[in-house]
Amino acid sequence: MATIIDGKQVAADVRARVGKDAAALRERTGHTPGLVTILVGEDPASQVYVRNKIKACEEAGMASFHEPMPATSTQGQVLAMVERYNADDRVDGILVQSPLPRGLDFKQVLDRIDPAKDVDGFHPLNVGRLVANQPGLVACTPAGVMELLDATGVALEGADAVVVGRSDIVGKPVALLLLHRSATVTVCHSRTRDLPGVCRRADVLIAAVGRARMITADMVRPGATVIDVGINRTDEGLAGDVDFGPVSEVAGAITPVPGGVGPMTIAMLLRNTVIAAAARHDR
Ligand code: NDP
Repeated sequence: MATIIDGKQVAADVRARVGKDAAALRERTGHTPGLVTILVGEDPASQVYVRNKIKACEEAGMASFHEPMPATSTQGQVLAMVERYNADDRVDGILVQSPLPRGLDFKQVLDRIDPAKDVDGFHPLNVGRLVANQPGLVACTPAGVMELLDATGVALEGADAVVVGRSDIVGKPVALLLLHRSATVTVCHSRTRDLPGVCRRADVLIAAVGRARMITADMVRPGATVIDVGINRTDEGLAGDVDFGPVSEVAGAITPVPGGVGPMTIAMLLRNTVIAAAARHDR
């Protein structure tokens, strides 16, 4: 039976450390790390995410600013809002909640965020730094996956790591982070031949697909560490990309959904905000 990796606990530990780091930064520089969330439109799920981010920010003793914008906002208005916070010294991190309402260009908005305040790690400059293994702001969910692996104590150097999914926000950055830790990384996608066979080679298996329970027990090497990034709404409630029950009989360690990767994303967002604040104020 696999060890269940407790994302809630690991996230709580990260948030506690971030709270201490934020207080220490304030002590050294007089600056309180600050995050602004820009929410365009009234998507209910996005409203919940943003509320959680604001709450977590305040709990960590950080300053939080919120900019709700109507769904009818123009591209120019959203860009102007980003510019405003690029120039606002109280703010170290700018988060534009996705998805944007139809008709707005998210990529252009991301490109406008000052890379020094890009706490989502999606700006091309930060993506380039990640590729080159240079210090920068790393996307929150992938960084959270690495934090969970480290908390589990799994050896990554020389390990066979298989990432299922190649999106810009999860699959690709996770693959790069694993590569920089000297894992031997295979990235799978919808055109991969013999997905079960490739997955079975993995010492570390990361599922970031968006298909409920598609990673089944026969695809998992006994003793492997399995990280399930997937969040899928099904008739029976929330499900990951991994068929949790049967896979936990085979794996060595596994994240549940919910309570695995999910809580890490906000924790890493707070950490990025403190990193960004330190880079701007600690000199
Ligand atoms: P995308 O839809 O952007 O990417 C999915 C990837 O899975 C694609 O690369 C796609 O391949 C691949 N894929 C789809 N079907 C198959 C298949 N049958 N076999 C192999 N590969 C397949 O999703 P995201 O990366 O944005 O998200 C993935 C999951 O993670 C989702 O469930 C999402 O909700 C969740 N998520 C969770 C977060 C968290 O905080 N825990 C944060 C972000 C995402 P191809 O490129 O060929 O189309």
